[in-house]
Amino acid sequence: MFDDLALRRRTLLAALAGAAAVPILGSPARAASPKVYIDPGHGGTDSGAVGNGLQEKALTLDISLQLRSILLANWNVDVRMSRTTDITRSLAYRTDDANAWGADLFVSVHINSGGGTGFESYRYLTADAATTNLHNALHPRVIAGMRSVGAVTDRGLKSANFHVLRETTMPAVLTENLFIDTVADANLLKRADFITATARAHAQGIASYLGLGSTTPPTFSVIVDNATAGRFTASANWGSSAYSSQRYGADYRFASPTPASDAAWFKVDIPAAGNYRIEVRHPADPGYNSTTPHVIVTASGNQTLNVDQRSNGGVWRSLGTFALAAGDRNLVAVSRWTSAAGYVVADAVRVTRV
Ligand SMILES: [Zn+2]
Repeated sequence: MFDDLALRRRTLLAALAGAAAVPILGSPARAASPKVYIDPGHGGTDSGAVGNGLQEKALTLDISLQLRSILLANWNVDVRMSRTTDITRSLAYRTDDANAWGADLFVSVHINSGGGTGFESYRYLTADAATTNLHNALHPRVIAGMRSVGAVTDRGLKSANFHVLRETTMPAVLTENLFIDTVADANLLKRADFITATARAHAQGIASYLGLGSTTPPTFSVIVDNATAGRFTASANWGSSAYSSQRYGADYRFASPTPASDAAWFKVDIPAAGNYRIEVRHPADPGYNSTTPHVIVTASGNQTLNVDQRSNGGVWRSLGTFALAAGDRNLVAVSRWTSAAGYVVADAVRVTRV
């Protein structure tokens, strides 16, 4: 150990002596912000694995979008994704895009299937040291993050000849986040806190690999449904329906537009002042409202965002990240006050600290 220190010191002194003329070896210039490429597996016409009412393509996108939010909120990084919506991307697109962008690392997020249980992760068959470092930084953190929520089997660090691992020119790791066709795993994948913990752990692994410091993003994620006791209020003018299979939970509420204050409110107990991502989920129908106002009570006043409820039903749609004050209060409203025609719909809200 002492010899190593002495050697490092001599090397450092030698490097400093020549620093005016030559760059210090071993310290390649890196862009001010490391470039992180996130690849949510599957999408569009390729649903990936399915089971227990879940689709791989939706889970990978959910984890990946949260991963991006957590990275951007906590560290100085650039993030690019192979997709941010439910669209089809070829494997070649994913790796070409990451290579062209000049990513510093590539993480592909998947859900397993085939009747096993637990978490496993992959690097390419002949990985270099940097890839191995990324793999070693990610895997144990993801396991620990998952186990903060539930029992998860560690299936280990593996290697495979996957396209996204082989064709990327930067360190690349692919994670298989539990088995969609195993009930115990699926039950975890259905939990918002598990998805967020998985995303956080990926972020921590990436930050550790990049040497960005040990910021630990706090965990908080909650879903409020229109049926959640004590957390949803709407007047009798709001009907209840289970018409659309895209609903969250048993039913949703709907009302005709009208120029009056008769909003449906979702109440959320915010644990601490900070930045939170707010998402809404609603069934979609061509006859629903194109401009449904959503009011968010932020730390600096109310903000209103309009949601087109004619499409993108049955998925979490981000309204953005907002600075919120601590406390239990009505946080998100769906307003009827819109000049567009068609029902406005209130179904569910998800709030996640980033
Ligand atoms: Zn997959």
